[in-house]
Amino acid sequence: MCPCCSGLPYEKCCAPYHAGAAAPTPIALMRSRYSGYALKKIDYLIETTHPNLRQIGEDRDEIAKFSNETSFEGLEILEVEGPYVTFRAHLSREGKDVSFTEKSRFEKVDGKWKYHSGFLHKGVLDKEGP
Ligand SMILES: [Zn+2]
Repeated sequence: MCPCCSGLPYEKCCAPYHAGAAAPTPIALMRSRYSGYALKKIDYLIETTHPNLRQIGEDRDEIAKFSNETSFEGLEILEVEGPYVTFRAHLSREGKDVSFTEKSRFEKVDGKWKYHSGFLHKGVLDKEGP
Protein backbone atom coordinates (compact mmCIF):
# COMPACT_ATOMS: atom_id res chain seq x y z
CA MET A 1 0.00 0.00 0.00
CA CYS A 2 1.17 3.52 -0.71
CA PRO A 3 2.54 5.33 2.38
CA CYS A 4 0.20 8.28 1.64
CA CYS A 5 -2.75 6.18 2.91
CA SER A 6 -4.78 6.38 -0.29
CA GLY A 7 -5.55 2.67 -0.01
CA LEU A 8 -3.97 2.09 -3.44
CA PRO A 9 -0.81 0.14 -4.21
CA TYR A 10 2.23 2.41 -4.40
CA GLU A 11 2.66 1.63 -8.12
CA LYS A 12 -0.86 2.92 -8.87
CA CYS A 13 -0.57 5.93 -6.56
CA CYS A 14 2.53 8.04 -5.94
CA ALA A 15 5.16 5.98 -7.81
CA PRO A 16 4.59 7.68 -11.22
CA TYR A 17 5.14 11.11 -9.63
CA HIS A 18 8.31 9.95 -7.94
CA ALA A 19 9.42 8.69 -11.36
CA GLY A 20 8.91 12.13 -12.92
CA ALA A 21 5.25 12.48 -13.95
CA ALA A 22 3.71 15.83 -13.04
CA ALA A 23 1.19 15.66 -10.18
CA PRO A 24 -2.12 16.91 -11.65
CA THR A 25 -3.50 18.55 -8.51
CA PRO A 26 -2.24 20.07 -5.24
CA ILE A 27 -3.62 17.11 -3.33
CA ALA A 28 -1.79 14.61 -5.55
CA LEU A 29 1.42 16.54 -4.99
CA MET A 30 0.78 16.73 -1.26
CA ARG A 31 0.26 12.97 -1.05
CA SER A 32 3.31 12.23 -3.17
CA ARG A 33 5.46 14.48 -0.99
CA TYR A 34 4.27 12.67 2.15
CA SER A 35 5.07 9.29 0.62
CA GLY A 36 8.30 10.85 -0.70
CA TYR A 37 9.34 11.60 2.88
CA ALA A 38 8.34 8.10 3.96
CA LEU A 39 10.36 6.52 1.14
CA LYS A 40 13.30 8.94 1.40
CA LYS A 41 12.88 10.37 -2.09
CA ILE A 42 15.06 13.34 -1.26
CA ASP A 43 15.57 14.54 -4.83
CA TYR A 44 11.82 14.46 -5.39
CA LEU A 45 11.18 16.53 -2.28
CA ILE A 46 13.68 19.15 -3.39
CA GLU A 47 12.31 19.12 -6.94
CA THR A 48 8.73 19.70 -5.73
CA THR A 49 9.61 22.51 -3.33
CA HIS A 50 9.01 26.01 -4.66
CA PRO A 51 12.31 27.67 -5.60
CA ASN A 52 11.60 30.58 -3.22
CA LEU A 53 11.28 28.24 -0.25
CA ARG A 54 14.23 26.12 -1.32
CA GLN A 55 16.48 29.14 -0.91
CA ILE A 56 15.51 29.65 2.71
CA GLY A 57 16.73 26.35 3.96
CA GLU A 58 14.76 23.34 2.70
CA ASP A 59 18.07 21.83 1.80
CA ARG A 60 19.12 18.27 1.19
CA ASP A 61 20.65 17.57 4.61
CA GLU A 62 17.65 18.93 6.46
CA ILE A 63 15.18 16.90 4.39
CA ALA A 64 17.30 13.75 4.61
CA LYS A 65 17.64 14.12 8.40
CA PHE A 66 13.88 14.60 8.83
CA SER A 67 13.12 11.68 6.53
CA ASN A 68 15.62 9.35 8.21
CA GLU A 69 14.74 10.15 11.82
CA THR A 70 10.96 10.11 11.50
CA SER A 71 8.48 7.24 11.28
CA PHE A 72 5.70 8.08 8.84
CA GLU A 73 2.60 6.46 10.26
CA GLY A 74 -0.22 7.98 8.28
CA LEU A 75 -1.70 10.90 6.43
CA GLU A 76 -5.16 12.42 6.75
CA ILE A 77 -6.36 15.02 4.27
CA LEU A 78 -8.67 17.36 6.21
CA GLU A 79 -9.57 20.04 3.67
CA VAL A 80 -8.82 20.98 0.09
CA GLU A 81 -9.49 24.53 -1.02
CA GLY A 82 -8.02 25.58 -4.38
CA PRO A 83 -4.24 25.63 -3.96
CA TYR A 84 -4.50 24.93 -0.21
CA VAL A 85 -4.44 21.50 1.37
CA THR A 86 -4.90 21.04 5.11
CA PHE A 87 -3.63 17.73 6.38
CA ARG A 88 -2.62 15.88 9.50
CA ALA A 89 0.63 13.95 9.31
CA HIS A 90 0.93 11.16 11.85
CA LEU A 91 4.58 10.89 12.73
CA SER A 92 6.79 9.66 15.50
CA ARG A 93 10.41 10.14 16.33
CA GLU A 94 12.30 8.03 18.85
CA GLY A 95 8.97 6.68 20.05
CA LYS A 96 7.47 10.14 20.63
CA ASP A 97 4.41 11.39 18.80
CA VAL A 98 5.42 14.35 16.64
CA SER A 99 2.26 14.49 14.53
CA PHE A 100 1.18 17.86 13.24
CA THR A 101 -1.56 19.58 11.26
CA GLU A 102 -0.56 21.93 8.48
CA LYS A 103 -2.26 24.06 5.88
CA SER A 104 0.00 23.92 2.86
CA ARG A 105 -0.10 26.22 -0.10
CA PHE A 106 0.88 24.97 -3.55
CA GLU A 107 1.77 27.02 -6.58
CA LYS A 108 2.48 26.15 -10.20
CA VAL A 109 5.93 26.86 -11.54
CA ASP A 110 6.43 26.17 -15.25
CA GLY A 111 3.22 24.14 -15.28
CA LYS A 112 4.14 21.91 -12.32
CA TRP A 113 2.74 22.10 -8.82
CA LYS A 114 5.25 22.96 -6.11
CA TYR A 115 5.03 23.15 -2.34
CA HIS A 116 5.03 26.90 -1.70
CA SER A 117 4.57 27.29 2.04
CA GLY A 118 2.81 25.89 5.05
CA PHE A 119 1.29 27.05 8.31
CA LEU A 120 1.23 24.74 11.30
CA HIS A 121 -2.15 24.53 13.01
CA LYS A 122 -1.16 22.57 16.05
CA GLY A 123 2.42 21.56 15.93
CA VAL A 124 4.83 19.79 18.16
CA LEU A 125 7.28 19.27 15.36
CA ASP A 126 10.06 21.81 15.28
CA LYS A 127 11.39 21.64 11.74
CA GLU A 128 14.17 24.08 12.58
CA GLY A 129 15.27 22.20 15.70
CA PRO A 130 18.62 20.57 16.43
ZN1 LIG B 1 0.32 7.64 -2.63
